Amino acid sequence: MVTPAGFTEITPTSAIDVDRHGGRAKCLQRLIRLEMPVPRTVALDFNTVHDISLGQLPDIERMLSVFGPDPLLSVRPSSLDPDWGGPSAILNIGMNDAARDRLTESHGEDAANALYLRFIRAYGVHVSRLDPDEFDLTATPDAEAVNAALAHFHEETDEPFPQDIATQLSEVLRAMARAWEGTTARLLREARGAPTDAGLGLVVQEMALGVGKGLSGSGVIQFVSGATGEREIRGRYLCKSQGRDALGANVDDNVMYLSRDDRGRSIEEVLPDCYADLIRYGDLTRNRLREEMQIEFTIENSRLHILDAVRVPRSPRANLIIAVALARDAIISEEEAVVRVPPRSLTEMLHSQVDPEGPRDVLVSGIAASPGGATGKIVFSSRAAQALAAKDEACILVRRETTPEDIRGMHAAKGVLTERGGITSHAAVIARGLGLPCVVGANDMKLDGKAKTLVMRDGRILREGDVITIDGAKGEALFGAVPMLEPDLGDEFQALLAWADRARDIGVRANADTPADAQKARMFAAEGIGLCRTEHMFFERDRLLAMREMIFADKSEDRRAALDRILPMQRADFAELFRIMQGQPVTIRLFDPPLHEFLPQGHEGMAELAEALDLNVTAVTRRVEALSEFNPMLGMRGVRLGITVPEIYDMQARAIFEATLDASETGGKPVVPEVMIPLVSAKREVEIVKARIDAVAAAVKAERGREFDYRLGVMVETPRAALRAGEIAQHAAFLSFGTNDLTQMTYGLSRDDAGRFMGRYVQQGVYAEDPFHMLDVEGVGELLDIGAERGRRANPDVVLGICGEHGGNPESIAFCRDAGFDYVSCSPFRVPVARLAAAHLAIASRGNGRPRVTR
Ligand code: PEP
Ligand code: MG
Repeated sequence: MVTPAGFTEITPTSAIDVDRHGGRAKCLQRLIRLEMPVPRTVALDFNTVHDISLGQLPDIERMLSVFGPDPLLSVRPSSLDPDWGGPSAILNIGMNDAARDRLTESHGEDAANALYLRFIRAYGVHVSRLDPDEFDLTATPDAEAVNAALAHFHEETDEPFPQDIATQLSEVLRAMARAWEGTTARLLREARGAPTDAGLGLVVQEMALGVGKGLSGSGVIQFVSGATGEREIRGRYLCKSQGRDALGANVDDNVMYLSRDDRGRSIEEVLPDCYADLIRYGDLTRNRLREEMQIEFTIENSRLHILDAVRVPRSPRANLIIAVALARDAIISEEEAVVRVPPRSLTEMLHSQVDPEGPRDVLVSGIAASPGGATGKIVFSSRAAQALAAKDEACILVRRETTPEDIRGMHAAKGVLTERGGITSHAAVIARGLGLPCVVGANDMKLDGKAKTLVMRDGRILREGDVITIDGAKGEALFGAVPMLEPDLGDEFQALLAWADRARDIGVRANADTPADAQKARMFAAEGIGLCRTEHMFFERDRLLAMREMIFADKSEDRRAALDRILPMQRADFAELFRIMQGQPVTIRLFDPPLHEFLPQGHEGMAELAEALDLNVTAVTRRVEALSEFNPMLGMRGVRLGITVPEIYDMQARAIFEATLDASETGGKPVVPEVMIPLVSAKREVEIVKARIDAVAAAVKAERGREFDYRLGVMVETPRAALRAGEIAQHAAFLSFGTNDLTQMTYGLSRDDAGRFMGRYVQQGVYAEDPFHMLDVEGVGELLDIGAERGRRANPDVVLGICGEHGGNPESIAFCRDAGFDYVSCSPFRVPVARLAAAHLAIASRGNGRPRVTR
């Protein structure tokens, strides 16, 4: 029945809507429809609760009349998504002196005093906001303890404890509504993905007391492990208890387990009928609610009451395993299983773990708050974390404890270490939500925020910038970088992603520069390499030297000789990539960086190079100076280098084509390499480079007497290239948008220096997000749209891709998909996230992707 009073009694047919009343209210209605013994319940919708927070209460007397005379009630939160959190449940509303007298008659004095005391404390703490530590929690719950609690309440609030149930209920509703509007609660739920205006519903339910005769009590049961997702009966039961008491109790409190298979006395043995019903309800919820639920129940005088059911709280891995199991049992479709796994939740499963066999120099131990291993430089502030992240450097955020203001820093960090806090501290909760390895409560170290030092128990002092490793599984911080183990993905992971691949309609490739990256790309089922940054193949010492010789050569024959030394290295690199990728597309980008990046800095480096090249230090220093630029990012890099020193691209093209033939000889699919020209801004650049590459291809074909195909493409990463994409596309088989440089140049914002002010900019709302992390769809996005549209119009066959860092973000994938791109390319570890995100988009666009809200 919908009442104008702002609440609705939950019956099988009443109008309860998840979007208005929240998941808990809707779930209770489903349990009622399944004929489970749920006590009488009413639901308050989001608007009503919002009005309550502003001081406008619904008709409380009318609400109370639903429950009959002198009820005892509970109030629980009911938001759209239970993961967003909410105020704590408050039980036993209605307890007062008279109710205690009545209960003394029916349930005995001890039970009556225990309930009254419990309510006074809950009301004092959650409604009157009294300090919980000021209530004597160790007191035996007798009449004396009740009187002491009543007196304490009176003293602290200057009011006697309210005896009127309408007053009690009104104040509880008001306190819960206001708690939802508080800043901390809002920031926490926003960090878990809630929209700014997320609403709260409330459910008011008649209590089933759990304090009756014999084995009366309360418990929870679930049919799956929340840690692993494996099917097993788990739960606890505690006599003479309420709510979720049994979960917090320990064995000494006489806790009982549910199944006979577990330790000690079990409900299966002592209350077999109730146990059989619970098992039946578990099957019902799994099959009809199509979800693994944790059922909260009370047994009062041998009668079972079902109070609530929530989705089993679960790790990201368990969530995936549960979704796959439900689909395999045909309870949900494969597509629904795909939708049930949030793309970013895969990140945690892809975490490396600290190798337990490897060496470990433990700096400090604490609480293992969030799993995974991460190595990075110590930072002591969110700003420092953001600054390093902007430079693509890994960092570990070290704080005494974290507050909501640290959320941005946590987003930017690879791991978190705090001196204080427990498993449910802010740092722990948020880190788990974000899938960040985290150790909290490491109180054997002392953080000196002013001196920016971390002093360990053994006297070691670490400073900002020192490298440490977080082992989130063991709860330890280790000195330096340590060996890591690759994640074990498992059969369910592969199955889910295979279903995702069936659904998605945009390609996903990997950015991979080395054979190791390419192996990862294959392991994560990327559909090829979308970007191989060839300059990254030259960071090793012997190669670097060859490269430097090439740069230092001032005569063309000397340069040629140096390039002849590099050629076989590159040929072997490419052949290896082609072999690993087994015929999948491999996009090789010709050299991009400014030459001076390969030159040494400082006297020592110059001297070393002078010796290696048999030159004097002055000559080396002069050459280095001559090559240095005021603004290297906008200087002689990319195609500008290719046109100025064409022998470099000639050599690379030759290496690619010879490797193509070498790799094709070993059998398998013929290799069709994709050669990509970076930093183009004019059509003529493409024409000049293309002519030379075509000539190299013709030469290699003639020399080897064999044919091969290749595709020449252009990176669109300057604004001019996007604007002139039409004429550029006439010479290109593909256009790949490099959104890192495109963002840099669209904003006029240095990729390497923006970290210095980015934090401020985001804080003050100048930019909604760091545009190097989150694609700026309004500005850079418009250039992508223009480039894609003009490119396609001029050359309908042109293939469109994105290979900037944004390529792995679900939001950017949505943008690229809408713009008609053929693929996205991102770092190998982000490939699974991208595959799943792309599937979500395709499913949602067919109208099947409504966010899931089953509790
Ligand atoms: C880009 O600019 O987006 C890109 C992928 O190239 P790089 O990051 O190597 O400049
Ligand atoms: Mg670039």
